[in-house]
Amino acid sequence: MPEVYLQVALDVPLQRTFDYRLEGESPIPGLRVIVPFGRQLLCGVIIKVNSEFAGTAGLKVEQLKLVQQVLHDMPPLPRHVLALCRFCSDYYAWPLGQVIAAALPGAFRQPQPWQGGKELSWYAATDTQALVQQIPARAHRQRALADLLAAPRSLDEIRALSASATGWLKAWQEQGLVTEVDAPMPAHGAPVTPELPALTDEQRVVLEQLNAADGFAPFLLFGVTGSGKTEVYLRAIEQRLAAGGQVLVLIPEINLTPQLEARFKARFPEELMVSLHSGLADGERTRNWLLAAQGRARIVLGTRLAVFAPMPDLALIVVDEEHDLSYRQQEGFRYSARDVAVYRAHQASVPVILGSATPSMESWRNMRESRYRLLTLTQRAITGAKPPQIQLLSTQQLRLFDGLTQNAINAMRETLGQGGQVLVFINRRGYAPVLACHECGWIASCKRCTARLVLHREDRRLRCHHCGWESSPPAHCPDCGNADLQPLGFGTQRLEETLAGMFPDTPPLRIDRDNTRRKGSLDAMLQQIHKGEAQLLVGTQMMAKGHDFANLQLVVVLNADAGLFSLDFRAQERLYALLLQVAGRAGRAGQPGKVLIQTRYHDDPFYPMLISGDYAAFADRTLQERKATALPPYSTWAMLRAEAKDLQRAMAFLREVRERWRGFSGLHMAQPVPALMVRKAGWERAQVLISAQRRPALQAALREMLEQLGAEKHPGVRWALDVDPVDV
Ligand code: ADP
Ligand code: ZN
Ligand code: ZN
Repeated sequence: MPEVYLQVALDVPLQRTFDYRLEGESPIPGLRVIVPFGRQLLCGVIIKVNSEFAGTAGLKVEQLKLVQQVLHDMPPLPRHVLALCRFCSDYYAWPLGQVIAAALPGAFRQPQPWQGGKELSWYAATDTQALVQQIPARAHRQRALADLLAAPRSLDEIRALSASATGWLKAWQEQGLVTEVDAPMPAHGAPVTPELPALTDEQRVVLEQLNAADGFAPFLLFGVTGSGKTEVYLRAIEQRLAAGGQVLVLIPEINLTPQLEARFKARFPEELMVSLHSGLADGERTRNWLLAAQGRARIVLGTRLAVFAPMPDLALIVVDEEHDLSYRQQEGFRYSARDVAVYRAHQASVPVILGSATPSMESWRNMRESRYRLLTLTQRAITGAKPPQIQLLSTQQLRLFDGLTQNAINAMRETLGQGGQVLVFINRRGYAPVLACHECGWIASCKRCTARLVLHREDRRLRCHHCGWESSPPAHCPDCGNADLQPLGFGTQRLEETLAGMFPDTPPLRIDRDNTRRKGSLDAMLQQIHKGEAQLLVGTQMMAKGHDFANLQLVVVLNADAGLFSLDFRAQERLYALLLQVAGRAGRAGQPGKVLIQTRYHDDPFYPMLISGDYAAFADRTLQERKATALPPYSTWAMLRAEAKDLQRAMAFLREVRERWRGFSGLHMAQPVPALMVRKAGWERAQVLISAQRRPALQAALREMLEQLGAEKHPGVRWALDVDPVDV
């Protein structure tokens, strides 16, 4: 038997591939294999096939283990996806096998063949007449199935006919009367729906440039909220689909998929579209991924993990709300889906559109330095829709009634009286962020995190929003026995209670992560809002993103200040984006919207920049500051993070690492410091900032660290490299 030698990437924390022997035909790289590894079986992906064994790491051919099985349950990962994974492995200093594993749906990470494949199959009669002839005369439903199978049918359609349908199908298949066929491809070129809005002049200019783009072309679509960016995406997508391409659309939040999906379906009724996000059941995600990989799905709409979906005919990538932090994977293999998308577009030679009303500083710099082309939409698309007026209410000068200023209360009363909708925005869920004892100063805190416990009144629980730990609130202060424990501060639940008292005729509707966990509950609430059944809304940033409420006329923002004085140098940029996004909800359909921001710091120079709505000026100024202080994007950063059961252990590990690499040419390693939130979920955390003027120096150092540290044992310490960290 011929023998070949495979280089296999395995999902293990080592920066190397592994060699195996295979007897038989040479398989295609990108296929899955099951291989022995130590005492277990692992699933890996073939990176390279050699007919001679090169003899790496002093191994002899006889020592190589045999591949147990080559799997054919998915098309081999195409070369461009493998190259994308390789790029990510180098750029983010993360083992290749683990990058590839992250790119695959869960079912393909298991060392066993995927059983759900037949769900994807289509069937048709080989000879309808012969099939019909052998069906007993009175078996009407079998007859109906036979008729159905005159054309290719999916398993779903077949099952829908009768509970016994799959049994008959199997029997007929064995007799050769029915066979598996390719799925029919939907016709290209969606029919033009008559009610398409006429493009605005600005939209037309933008589209001309997008449609003329050929090969790799990165665009920054900078458009105010409601300026018709989504409409622009739809038109650009339409053009690429008509030319036979597949389109990848990335969005930051799962919550937004249902609405966008509906908008896309309505626009492209003939095209097969799939979604890819972590909220899907495993089987569905695997099927959708396969449909993309087979080129059957023409539109892939997904969150960050979709950026790795194989798409043979990829012709355009759209990254909506490109500044959004959700694009950043913060655990395990840490990557920015936005940045990976740009690299992918480069590699696939296709245009990529990064859309935002508040672009990230990284993208803004790339645009200013002409690496990205700027496209702008300055006007709201609906005629007459005006940007909202923003007004500050100083909580230093004005009295507060249950956390609200009289001006805010009056404005709310007026808007509600005129039948308009009001949103009160507070970026904190729960009832109160603090439960305290006024006698001795005790505060309910999490034992596993450096964090306070949040009081949730509905189910009377104290919860840690960082690790999920919970308990019932103590009846007495655990330190002094005082029975009068007081909630301090406001969360959405308390605000809801307060507003219910203030406005008894308009019951508030609260929307936050706590009451939208059940599938479909968010949708139901959004429907209520759209139908005008809820007039007074209370919500967190979940409400801020993407939703389009025609009758929302007033937004009141509470507790905006936290972002102004954060230690994080990106805090203002985020606050700007958040406030603008919240403000953007108001006044979308004709009526002017009004936004009231309650703040203690009404004098801060940040606010005039926000009120003017001139994000470009804010971004230019911010970039100048970053340049002057050599902060990202003007220097490249990585964070080496370590955690252990006690802080000293983590710090000692980092100190040792620093000693070993601090002399690396072109590299600067800061002193190890405890993380801002030292304890999290029972682990104590510390970090070292690694920076460099030039990325190659940083990458070379990180590669070395990954290889050496990965091969060593550091008992009791968990460590990870975080390249381009967003929380520092
Ligand atoms: P964005 O994505 O920038 O927030 P959208 O594409 O969602 O903006 O557009 C905002 C609103 O304006 C939507 O209700 C959309 O249907 C409408 N719209 C977009 N383009 C046009 C246009 N050219 N004419 C009329 N209405 C438009
Ligand atoms: Zn006490
Ligand atoms: Zn905790």
